[in-house]
Amino acid sequence: MRKKIVAGNWKMNKSHDEAIELIQSIAASSYEESIHLIVFPPTVYVSEITKITASTEISVGVQNSSQYDAGAYTGEVSSSMIKSIGAEYALVGHSERREYFNEQNDELAQKVNQLLSDGLTPVYCCGEVLKEREDENHFNIIKNQIEEGVFHLNENQIQNCILAYEPVWAIGTGVTASSGQAQEMHQFIRSLLVEKYGIDVADSISILYGGSCKPSNAKELFGNPDVDGGLIGGASLVAEDFIAIANSFG
Ligand code: PEP
Repeated sequence: MRKKIVAGNWKMNKSHDEAIELIQSIAASSYEESIHLIVFPPTVYVSEITKITASTEISVGVQNSSQYDAGAYTGEVSSSMIKSIGAEYALVGHSERREYFNEQNDELAQKVNQLLSDGLTPVYCCGEVLKEREDENHFNIIKNQIEEGVFHLNENQIQNCILAYEPVWAIGTGVTASSGQAQEMHQFIRSLLVEKYGIDVADSISILYGGSCKPSNAKELFGNPDVDGGLIGGASLVAEDFIAIANSFG
């Protein structure tokens, strides 16, 4: 049985006090026990947030990490530092990192390696922009992002990763992929995993959907056989909405 996961990407939002209030509200909420909640606050708050989540089943991750181990990389935060403050997960290759910070697949593959070697779980994000979908090139784009970002991993390593399909045209736009579009791409990603690693490994890897997922559409999206949960942006900033999404599995 694959894990059902609802993950909240807070991006560069919330003051310190607001962030603490948000995690306290999430931690005090009730949700289906089998759902695994992960929050991705700004890194500067992680240390304090992991102290609050320590008595809960909620996990904490970071939104970005360095591909380097240690040393003279001004402004960077290493995966071992992240681990030392209690985070267990890290987003890799979110479309905003790809777009605004020009992150490329080869660099993302290094980040994945670094995280795995420090015992963290990468959440590797992929997604096509609107033009690529309109040109019917979306399957090739996703195949390329996945092959170059994670297909160098062995069977054990890939099973310590989570994948997230996030069509860029749906992120923060209010436009959601239809349930059919989400399932079609998730099934395609799983078929790539089957081809590369075999059915047992492919069946064990969670693939999350991200892109304007909210309480009103989560149930339909999560009802798909290959959609194992969501990576939530805007709606994860409101505890009530985030929990309503977590309670949207059938
Ligand atoms: C995201 O940034 O990962 C995301 C899915 O954002 P939103 O839910 O706001 O579209």
